[in-house]
Amino acid sequence: MHTFTHGDAPSRIWHDRADALLVDGRLDGRALIDGQRVAAASGETLACHSPVDGRLLTHVARGAAADVDAAVRSARRAFDAGSWARQAPADRKRVLQRFADLMLQNKDELALLETLDMGKPIQYSLSVDVALAARCINWYGEAIDKVYDEIAPTPHTALALIQREPVGVVGAIVPWNYPMLMAAWKLGPALACGNSVVLKPSEKSPLSALRLAELALQAGLPEGVFNVVPGLGHEAGEALALHMDVDALGFTGSTRVGRKMLEYAGRSNLKRVFNELGGKSAFVVFDDVDSIERAADTVAGALFFNQGESCNAPSRLLVHASIADEVVARIVAQAPHYQPADPLDPATVMGALVDEGQLRTVLGYIAAGHAEGAQCVSGGVQARVDSGGYYVQPTVFDGVRNDMRIAQEEIFGPVLSVIRFKDEAEAVRLANDSAYGLQASVWTQHLDRAHRVARALKVGTVHVNQYDEDDITVPFGGVKQSGNGRDKSLHALDKYTDMKTTWIRINGA
Ligand code: NAD
Repeated sequence: MHTFTHGDAPSRIWHDRADALLVDGRLDGRALIDGQRVAAASGETLACHSPVDGRLLTHVARGAAADVDAAVRSARRAFDAGSWARQAPADRKRVLQRFADLMLQNKDELALLETLDMGKPIQYSLSVDVALAARCINWYGEAIDKVYDEIAPTPHTALALIQREPVGVVGAIVPWNYPMLMAAWKLGPALACGNSVVLKPSEKSPLSALRLAELALQAGLPEGVFNVVPGLGHEAGEALALHMDVDALGFTGSTRVGRKMLEYAGRSNLKRVFNELGGKSAFVVFDDVDSIERAADTVAGALFFNQGESCNAPSRLLVHASIADEVVARIVAQAPHYQPADPLDPATVMGALVDEGQLRTVLGYIAAGHAEGAQCVSGGVQARVDSGGYYVQPTVFDGVRNDMRIAQEEIFGPVLSVIRFKDEAEAVRLANDSAYGLQASVWTQHLDRAHRVARALKVGTVHVNQYDEDDITVPFGGVKQSGNGRDKSLHALDKYTDMKTTWIRINGA
């Protein structure tokens, strides 16, 4: 096994914490069903290795149909008992806020689990993943006792109440790139509305979800309301998506698996499916941009963040031909800043890819870029080979055509494809020439152009002259093959509630 080489003092602190967390097999990889930590019914486990250095972290329950069924039955029992679903919203609020507080009190441990499990830099696990996941849970708790139902403007001989009811049992299947945050985007609104949840984390990053469920119990969430069944996608995931007693499915993941979710619903009980899928977002820089430097720095920062493993990474840079050389030179000059380094060092900005498979996928796309005739002007190779982990240099391809694979397919790694355009019409055509429609960014000083292009782009979110703004108050999601649901904001409540109308006759009115 590879041993850590402890660097300077701040990184040593996190290495020591990691060693303490892992000592004597302390990490419990069992499922959490009906308020109890339990092994898979089969007794089988999956080895959980860290992409930071390849070390074995623990063994995690290999959940399958029997475990999913036990979790769904527990969730249904809890829902029918009403111990959560029929609590006053103000009481649910207090529990969710305690849950969020406990997440923050345990932020170092949660951040460490995230970094060890999927390789992102510890500073971002703390400042982004834990902080935003806790804010999400807190925000939905805070919101839920301020949401009112409706009375329709009917004739006065009757009263029509339009009320939201929790759907019942929600299945949540989430990916590995922001394991805790994607789980929180489902849990916050689903729990706030009174549902029970069965969460299936990615087999590549199950650890933080299991710890979250323990903290939720500690906060006072009744047993059975939040269950976690780790396991493989085609085993635990498929069983959850096919289950006849799951009412709604919140899925975040690839477009390939999102398609299956719709099939599973069709083959089972027509459960409603909300898909949050992949992206190939265009970052469009016009020649009237106010600051080439800021545009270049922003695209580099957003694309290389999280090792490029973000659904909304601006992985296609569309830039006006007259300023393209300058923009590309500025991005390439940033490359040293984004060199991968030890994820447990608080100064690191680029960490490890999630596993060897993802490393092979990214290197395969880099090879495809070369083969299709694009010019690699920065990076393009594996990094930190002796670490035992999986790292790739920040990579920039210039001279990309929009029909190349590196322009059309989601790479999910630190690879930027630069495409030049001549005018606004071509920019819009290229931006929309994608199966995906998650996000886009437009850089221009012209107000008319900003609005015109923002309207013309077929995406869920457009950023103008920035890419970083994000808040729990705004919806997140895409169109086309990027999916249909919206996480975050009060709009997410629609996914986890059924709308019921009650007509009441008023005699003598
Ligand atoms: P993935 O689709 O491979 O896996 C996602 C989840 O689905 C995992 O828990 C996995 O175990 C499960 N799964 C896999 N096969 C399954 C099957 N046959 N039946 C049931 N469940 C199955 O995605 P990933 O590689 O974990 O995550 C990366 C993808 O997630 C990217 O495409 C990214 O763009 C997308 N993503 C989207 C958003 C968004 O909000 N739109 C956010 C984050 C990530």
